[in-house]
Amino acid sequence: MNLIPKNGKQIGRRERKLRIVDKCYFCKAKVVQQQVTIDYRWGDDLVVIRDVPAGACEQCGEKYLESGVYKELERLAKSKSHLRGKIMVDILAFEESITT
Ligand SMILES: [Zn+2]
Repeated sequence: MNLIPKNGKQIGRRERKLRIVDKCYFCKAKVVQQQVTIDYRWGDDLVVIRDVPAGACEQCGEKYLESGVYKELERLAKSKSHLRGKIMVDILAFEESITT
């Protein structure tokens, strides 16, 4: 997940059109605007936010968020004002396997 810094030009509050990168930073493939699902985490808390307007790489799936959108995620996650349901998440511990 990447944040796109605002570059100077102010966007109107009602303006929902994204100025997102059009090329993936990692694999250089095309980034298209989509409604994506974001796993948002702060501290030990984890929430899943659906229908987030973002750019997503067609090849590797890397997501690009505008800073205003990211701020809104933060607000939503902390207030939990738009709670739609719950999912179970498995918690695993990383254990290095011996492959040599
Ligand atoms: Zn990519």
